[in-house]
Amino acid sequence: MIIQLLGTGDSPGTPVLNCHCKTCEDARRNRWERKRYSILVKSAGKVILIDTSPDLRRQLLDNSIEKVDAVIWTHSHFDHFGGFSEFYRVQGNVDVYTTPQIHESIGKYLHFLSYKRREVNTFEKFTISDLSFTLFPVNHPPVEAVGIRIEWNGYRVVISGDTNIEIPEKSIEEMEKPDLFVVNSIAPSGKFKKHMNAREALYLAERIGAKKVVLSHLGHFFPPPKDASRYYPVGEDYQLFSFGEGKLNEFIGD
Ligand SMILES: [Zn+2]
Ligand SMILES: [Zn+2]
Ligand SMILES: [Zn+2]
Repeated sequence: MIIQLLGTGDSPGTPVLNCHCKTCEDARRNRWERKRYSILVKSAGKVILIDTSPDLRRQLLDNSIEKVDAVIWTHSHFDHFGGFSEFYRVQGNVDVYTTPQIHESIGKYLHFLSYKRREVNTFEKFTISDLSFTLFPVNHPPVEAVGIRIEWNGYRVVISGDTNIEIPEKSIEEMEKPDLFVVNSIAPSGKFKKHMNAREALYLAERIGAKKVVLSHLGHFFPPPKDASRYYPVGEDYQLFSFGEGKLNEFIGD
């Protein structure tokens, strides 16, 4: 199984259009960016996307991904579904999994596309290829949002989705002991209604006993990656984790 972070940015991405803060200027000068949120899961030749970033065309081209077998949406914010039609126009007919309510919200925007709507309830395990998935509710007011647990060959990966720190207790149980925890963190510090800061995200990682943690959905409030990575386990676009043969390997993209 391969897990690849296709986009590690928050909703405006980094650099932010029109922003001239130190981080955004550094991104322009040194040609790095944080694209919008999407995670690739690959196993047994099948490609599954967690969320469909508005930057999806570029992300698929850069990583030579030619076909998508299934999509799972975590919630109805534009930065998590806006790029769906980027591959739908050349492929179509893809299975899309999420809760009935999230389907309902996103369906209003994508009413002109006819994808295969697979409704799944939270805490109900479902399988795609040789992977098992469980959605669990998180806390991202005012919309309904889910996190995802993935199981494969004894490995467990947990993706927090967009959430603040007040996650329901039953979901915390679902998140326990991941080999890899991809967790939302929009800024190093500060209080956010919809998101966690890095301290909250790392506290949560420790609480659930995550073996490896990577912060994603990062805003321009973080310093550039070369500085931020000295203090926090920040993810990078196209960073890849490969599971198998009893170990977890990690690669940072170009
Ligand atoms: Zn988001
Ligand atoms: Zn900025
Ligand atoms: Zn969101």
